[in-house]
Amino acid sequence: MDPTLEIKAKLPIEELVGQYCQIKKKGRQYVCVCPFHQDTHPSMQVSPDKGIAYCFACNSGGDIFSFYQKIEGVDFKQALKDLGERTGVKVEGLKVDTPVQKDHKERIRECLVAAQKFYADTLVKDEKTLAYLTSRGIPDDQIKEFGIGVAPDSFSDTYQYLLKEGFSRQEIVDASLGIQKDLEEGKIYDRFRNRLMFPIFDGNGKIVGFGGRTLGDDDAKYINSGETPLYNKSVTLYGLSHAKEHIREQKSVVLVEGYFDVLACHRIGIKNTIAVSGTALTEQHVKILKRYSDKVILCLDQDNAGKQAAERSYILCSEEEMAVHTVRLEQKDPDEAAMADPEMLKKKILEETVPYLSMVIEEMKEGDTVSSEGKRAALQILLPLLKVIKSSVEKEHFMHKVAALLSTTEVSLQEDMQRLEQASPQIPVYDSPEETRIIPERSAFSTIEITLGLFVLFPVHKSLLAELIEPEDPYIASLYNGLKQSPSVEILTLDMLNLAPEYHERASILMLFCEHHGFSEWSPTMAGQEIRKNCLNANKEYLKNKQMDIAKKLQIARSEGNNTEETKLSQQYAQVLKLKNMASK
Ligand SMILES: [Zn+2]
Repeated sequence: MDPTLEIKAKLPIEELVGQYCQIKKKGRQYVCVCPFHQDTHPSMQVSPDKGIAYCFACNSGGDIFSFYQKIEGVDFKQALKDLGERTGVKVEGLKVDTPVQKDHKERIRECLVAAQKFYADTLVKDEKTLAYLTSRGIPDDQIKEFGIGVAPDSFSDTYQYLLKEGFSRQEIVDASLGIQKDLEEGKIYDRFRNRLMFPIFDGNGKIVGFGGRTLGDDDAKYINSGETPLYNKSVTLYGLSHAKEHIREQKSVVLVEGYFDVLACHRIGIKNTIAVSGTALTEQHVKILKRYSDKVILCLDQDNAGKQAAERSYILCSEEEMAVHTVRLEQKDPDEAAMADPEMLKKKILEETVPYLSMVIEEMKEGDTVSSEGKRAALQILLPLLKVIKSSVEKEHFMHKVAALLSTTEVSLQEDMQRLEQASPQIPVYDSPEETRIIPERSAFSTIEITLGLFVLFPVHKSLLAELIEPEDPYIASLYNGLKQSPSVEILTLDMLNLAPEYHERASILMLFCEHHGFSEWSPTMAGQEIRKNCLNANKEYLKNKQMDIAKKLQIARSEGNNTEETKLSQQYAQVLKLKNMASK
């Protein structure tokens, strides 16, 4: 028997929680003051039936292992060991523990270091690529400083080299340097082939991954390392270790889009320059930048995608109270600008930056700000940009400018702004206000999850499952398929759904949530109505997420100049839009 199940059978949840909290019986359950947040009334639900203790106020808890981990601050292995001892269940033979993992991470790092050396050595012998770098204005010392190399045009040269250096097949795959295309065949291919290789370092100058630019006519102009224990693209900033001291000195950071842009700016002496790699700017990136400086200068591509990236960057940075300035270029990007006229680019970044919002307002002066449609269109862009400004002095300054632009008063602007704030709550859950009543607004569960929970409570409505778009997320899909194949019974339990063991806890918490909110008290008719409504909302949410997801990928494909991918994604996008319009009718 699985030792976790054995321990669960021997240690009821109420007994474990009772050792830390004063539990009180309430119906078939227990409640207690939640130990995980400043709780004023008993928010924690303890369900002996489900083996779950959970607080829906702070969304903490779970089965005995989750509860113990959280309250004792230990990891799962430790919890298993402790609770095993306490219940007399043997847990030996289960793999331990953290030091091994640490070693593995270190091995991945060593593997990346070896690969970087291999790529750099390959470049020295590759005259064609050296000539290409010269043509792009990159001198030898910069090649060395940034560790640039080349991945050979071969399916397994890198892999063979790393094997000879003593790395295992698994380590090479885990470092995202090798790809196993076919499980049966088991052959490993080099992830990077015929590419110019930019090593990516963390803030301390330790290598975490690579970005590779094709040297042939590969559809994907750029590819990056996949996510690994070392490389997480939403926290990685290209060039940070080279730039951080300069960012502190200059009290500002210059944000550009690509590897070549970073090199170009460093070359002309703007050494406080960094770029994101393989993703749009994220909140985490901004939090990291904020450690070094309060001011960011956007020097992004001048095309539409660049404009969108600028707006996004402005909003994210303003939310962290960073001042956002921008540079206007005549060329496509800083790399081209540096090739065309390095002194001019330097002057622009050092002397001619303007606050981002001033630039937006300035650009609007060239359009229609007189007709009512023109004003409305302008407000749609400007109000969200004004809204994120934290400082009231600064906000007032820009309100004044916008009022002048649209020949209106600041009072009317204020009113519009308030309307906008009311119309877009922080965490939008449902589209229309009347639909929010039944289900509490800030729930830990998505609409689709709650909808599936309702199906478990009311199996009589199983036929309505057909109204849902088939979910993709593995956990949700397993719940959905479990329901679809469930026996026709009056009372359905999670055990009848054949869920994978790793989904049991989450599904049990979901059912506790549904009961806690009294959904099980509904009449079958009312449940039917609610299920229909929730199916509709879940579909809308699915399509909305899908739309955003494709839009994000599309932006990346565009910025990478990947035309095939762009066409494919554009078609998908149109398809989703069509479905979305159908769903909202
Ligand atoms: Zn709590």
